[in-house]
Amino acid sequence: MSRIAFIGLGNMGAPMAANLLKAGHALRVFDLTPAAVDAAVAAGGVAATSAIDAVVDADIVISMLPASRHVEGLYLDASSGLLPHIPTHALVIDCSTIAPATARKVAEAAAKHGLAMIDAPVSGGTAGAAAGTLTFIVGGEATALERARPILANMGKNIFHVGSSGAGQVAKLCNNMALGVIMAVTGEALALGVSHGLDAKVLSQMMAVSTARSWATEVCNPWPGVLENAPASRGYTGGFGNDLMLKDLGLAAEAAMSVGASIPLGELARNLYAMNSRAGHGGLDFSSVVKLVAKDV
Ligand code: NAD
Repeated sequence: MSRIAFIGLGNMGAPMAANLLKAGHALRVFDLTPAAVDAAVAAGGVAATSAIDAVVDADIVISMLPASRHVEGLYLDASSGLLPHIPTHALVIDCSTIAPATARKVAEAAAKHGLAMIDAPVSGGTAGAAAGTLTFIVGGEATALERARPILANMGKNIFHVGSSGAGQVAKLCNNMALGVIMAVTGEALALGVSHGLDAKVLSQMMAVSTARSWATEVCNPWPGVLENAPASRGYTGGFGNDLMLKDLGLAAEAAMSVGASIPLGELARNLYAMNSRAGHGGLDFSSVVKLVAKDV
């Protein structure tokens, strides 16, 4: 059993923390939203009064925040940054999806405080977080990953070590760029079929066992009513926010520019999610991108 500080209890952090509690760890939990803390306390965690309060006697610190600026602020802020307050024996695991350069910057600062830190962004969505079947995509020292492995295994079933600090973020961006394109084109295909009078459910079932098979057809289908547990069937609530996908595609574009790579479909997808955001759907699940091409969804 480890003493774990868990910071960021949103759509992903809450079920991940719940799985650590189920595995018998002692969690001190913190989020800026009091309701998120209350829910984690109901699941067995102990409420911390601040992020610093959460980490002071931790063996493991886990953060699951929206974007680079939140992670940089959490660890490096001049007055409230966590690094000077984390015991030096502790291991820091950031599971947020952020810029590779920010991950490296924070890990380098952590090292100056004598702290080991890995970037361990995840794939698998909220369903994977709840089921404890996430994929962890890890950048950092192999020795640090070995210390993290038993904890990560309580929240996921696949753990990939893809390179040094920041590499986990690069690999995660590659995955999400492909996902963003696949979701957008799956919505387009379903809208085309429905416009011709096809049943979206039958079309999806056919595609799910044919060559267009994907997570978007089988798990997070963008058409309402096709999959009972998909965000599309509950008004596109919960799940992976459109604006988080937009953030990831922006990070992918930055990563491409930094090495001169061309990502024409990734850039197109970034524009589609930006349009969906401007249409007022930024807080909805990213599968709501189908709204750009379909009526009445
Ligand atoms: P979310 O917006 O639901 O949750 C983020 C939480 O962080 C919120 O509860 C917010 O109050 C809290 N927070 C922000 N700043 C904080 C701070 N300084 N201290 C404490 N709490 C703070 O986001 P999410 O969907 O849980 O995603 C978290 C990260 O995981 C993102 O980087 C996202 O890109 C990534 N991700 C999400 C999914 C998904 O399906 N939702 C899947 C894979 C990866």
